[in-house]
Amino acid sequence: MQIFHLSAECFPEAKVGGLADVVGALPKYQNRSGHLAKVIIPGYANKFRNENEFETVYAAMLSLGSLKFYYQIIKEKKVNPDFELYLIEIPGLFDRPEIYAYQDDTERFTAFQIAFLDWLTNNKIQPDLIHCHDHHTGLVPFMVKYCPSYKKLAQAKTVITIHNAQYQGEFPFEKIKYLPDFPVAKSGFLEWNGLINPLASAIKCADLITTVSPTYLQEMRHAANGLESLLDFQKDKSIGILNGIDTEVWNPETDPLLEFNFTMKTLKSGRLKNKKQLCKAYNLEDSKPLFAFIGRLVGEKGADLLPQICSLAFQTHGKDINIFILGSGDKVVESSLTGMQNFYHGNYNVHIGYNEKLAHAVYGSADFLLMPSRVEPCGLNQMYALRYGTVPMVRRTGGLKDTVLDIGDGGFGICHDQANVSDVLHSINRAIGLFSDARKFDSVRKTAMKIDHSWEQVAIKYTTAYESLKVKKHEK
Ligand code: ADP
Repeated sequence: MQIFHLSAECFPEAKVGGLADVVGALPKYQNRSGHLAKVIIPGYANKFRNENEFETVYAAMLSLGSLKFYYQIIKEKKVNPDFELYLIEIPGLFDRPEIYAYQDDTERFTAFQIAFLDWLTNNKIQPDLIHCHDHHTGLVPFMVKYCPSYKKLAQAKTVITIHNAQYQGEFPFEKIKYLPDFPVAKSGFLEWNGLINPLASAIKCADLITTVSPTYLQEMRHAANGLESLLDFQKDKSIGILNGIDTEVWNPETDPLLEFNFTMKTLKSGRLKNKKQLCKAYNLEDSKPLFAFIGRLVGEKGADLLPQICSLAFQTHGKDINIFILGSGDKVVESSLTGMQNFYHGNYNVHIGYNEKLAHAVYGSADFLLMPSRVEPCGLNQMYALRYGTVPMVRRTGGLKDTVLDIGDGGFGICHDQANVSDVLHSINRAIGLFSDARKFDSVRKTAMKIDHSWEQVAIKYTTAYESLKVKKHEK
């Protein structure tokens, strides 16, 4: 089956969060199981673009309403052993360093989607299946179905994977002029609550809806930022498939971003060496339990709870614990977390920003990973933590509920139910108890490391879901 993954992110080329990790791994494992999976993302002015060589595959002019734009499809010159990666470069819209959060994101991602379909149509490229990821690519199922310009693609099945329903990309109807012509009677397929809503449109128009964990699929019917009833209505074409992790990238035995590699046998000594190094760099006490948080500092992740969690935990446990936070996001949260450095010197530190190497070092050295999330569609951090022998401390929500079993139930994590400070503090008490029982702690970490979340099995679930669509394969 020829599958085209369309996304705003792909690891390692352009990453903000878990979306990149999924798009950077799933196609690789689909190719290994005999499919032909390719990835298409925008070409950003980032490190990856600057440090690699590319060839132009196609170039053309297009319109976005009255705005004319030039786009080119470029491909890495070096052969990518995992999957073919194409970048769509649009000068004026994507030649910027960041992926999101520009005022003209509507124009940027609409142009990206139109350029993608234009490239396929003009070159008689006929994917069997177009797999769209999140709202940035959510207009594609509508356009494939209803825009006559793309009628050559009408046989392609379309899939939308919802990585996070909080973000929907909605914009006012006056921008409808950006889309190529389509029958006016079909405009309802774009609309939700009086706006053009790309995620809602994809939910209405795609042949299949997937989301990144079975529990999140259920939760979205009650909490999906306004899309609950739509998702409930479309439940018969929806499926929750828990994400995998790329166990080749995330392998403590070989991870090049880890200072000291380790196996299950050398777990204790290897992790201690990493911990000593991290503690030295961030002025922490390596003999004390280290609690870490990695992620976007936003309400969904429960990041606003962190300042109070930290100060109350230090009030109770004094210098018997360390806390380290890596992340960026809400400026108020960032500054209160940074400000606390003055109070808990020697046991607390924060690194504001995005740092892939540091994240690996933290997974390889922290004793516990805090995930007090309010919403967690799947969550990859807890799976990386498990693989590296860090005990995840999670709120039972979304994918966290599907992947972390509490030590009290014979499991390998510490779970709580409410997104509040006292539940997390209670979990910290339990974690300190576990840490002080070296034997049990060691056995819990080993159990964690044995858990298999590799993509091989997950890729098969996607194939089964695709096959339910009776994809019509083209002669290649
Ligand atoms: P999200 O909702 O942000 O996509 P996920 O758990 O699905 O959350 O994925 C988060 C991914 O981003 C993980 O690979 C995690 O290690 C990484 N990550 C998040 N914040 C940072 C950061 N500040 N520095 C390095 N890596 C980060």
